[in-house]
Amino acid sequence: MSERIVIVGGGLAGQRCAETLRRCGHGQPIVMVCGEPHRPYDRPPLSKGVLHGRDAEETLSFRSADWYDAKGVELLLGVEARHLDHRAQLVELSDGTSVPYGQLLIATGARPRGLPIFDGFENVTGLRTVEDARRLRAALVPGARLLVIGAGFIGQEVASAARTAGVHTTIVEAAAAPLGGLLGPELGAWFADLHRSHGVELLLGEQVIGVRREDPPGEIGDRRRVGSVTLASGRTLTCDHVLLGVGVEPALDWLGGSELDRTGVITDVDGRTDIPGVYAAGDAAACFDPLLEAHAPGSHWESSGRQGSRVAKAMLGQDPGAPALSSFWSDLYDTRVQYLGHASLADQLIFDGDPGSRSFTATFTRDGRPVAVLLAGRPQMLPQARALLAGTAERAFA
Ligand code: FAD
Repeated sequence: MSERIVIVGGGLAGQRCAETLRRCGHGQPIVMVCGEPHRPYDRPPLSKGVLHGRDAEETLSFRSADWYDAKGVELLLGVEARHLDHRAQLVELSDGTSVPYGQLLIATGARPRGLPIFDGFENVTGLRTVEDARRLRAALVPGARLLVIGAGFIGQEVASAARTAGVHTTIVEAAAAPLGGLLGPELGAWFADLHRSHGVELLLGEQVIGVRREDPPGEIGDRRRVGSVTLASGRTLTCDHVLLGVGVEPALDWLGGSELDRTGVITDVDGRTDIPGVYAAGDAAACFDPLLEAHAPGSHWESSGRQGSRVAKAMLGQDPGAPALSSFWSDLYDTRVQYLGHASLADQLIFDGDPGSRSFTATFTRDGRPVAVLLAGRPQMLPQARALLAGTAERAFA
């Protein structure tokens, strides 16, 4: 049997897995199959520093090329996994070769969801890759009109960068409040106010039902551009560029024909699937979350990295320790927002500080016990928030 560990997906989860394997003494070959032509790189700056022009693309790589050489981690760049044959313990690749494995990590992340009405237009982008960020950044010129579809975190961060760049920005969101489903109406209203106070036009309870094509003047041919959209309310919005921020779906097409769930690979708390030697982590996985008592789809940075590390330890038969709390952060204008835990479990919301301000703590409790915390403009409070939730998480894991 091959001793090789194959990591499919050169993102954060795969990277942390490779680093932890080497740090914990694994001496056998490691191969990372990276669909993108770049060394593994970090995505959060794509909607923050890169769009603001503060972070250069070259600074995004997790490690230098020398690191991979020194650690004996073979990168297959620009090569995709096409098929998993778990009986033969082989991954078939887009270059026609296949790579045998002893243990396998599925870490192919997610890709932005599309909306059929916008298919085929050149001025419509999602935001997942460095190429997406480059295209979007070029569109964020002062005076341009940006239409953001969806007020999730990506949509909100892009809106924040666009307004800061002097772009006329409109967000169209089908729900009654940004992130209202996740955080409830009170905090949803806070996010709405944050954007409106920075000059974003935020249209809630609205949907795009029609798209009008407007090709570049003097051009005939295949270049199709959205010139305006019609909303369900009947209103028409003109735009120069459209950002689709309507969520992501796991990049798991390549598992077609396998028995693994392509809507998110189901794993235990350490990333094990039901197939011996096959693990999953990050946005492609739905790991068991002891606090939720359910499998939760990945979509955040910290949990993806930690899951990658846990898988490495599980592969080596080492104790991965207690799982981390679910968490994320976001930078909107000059306010950092940090969130830990699961507000969906809560029956009460308590504020410390003025929720009308840009600095407060929102603690979600259930039966008086904290289950989630949102910090707005209070990064210094993160250790306390973690400590507050640690007891709840430990009890859930015990
Ligand atoms: P990814 O980082 O998506 O990596 C997966 C890799 O696998 C990709 O390179 C992909 O091309 C590759 N791949 C896909 N299919 C194949 C295949 N068949 N074969 C080979 N390779 C394949 N989270 C936060 O908590 N806070 C933030 O502020 C935040 N900001 C973000 C901003 C942006 C713009 C984006 C896109 C994400 C942000 N996130 C944030 C989310 C966070 O970056 C992700 O949760 C994290 O990157 C997931 O890591 P991953 O390794 O699972 O997947």
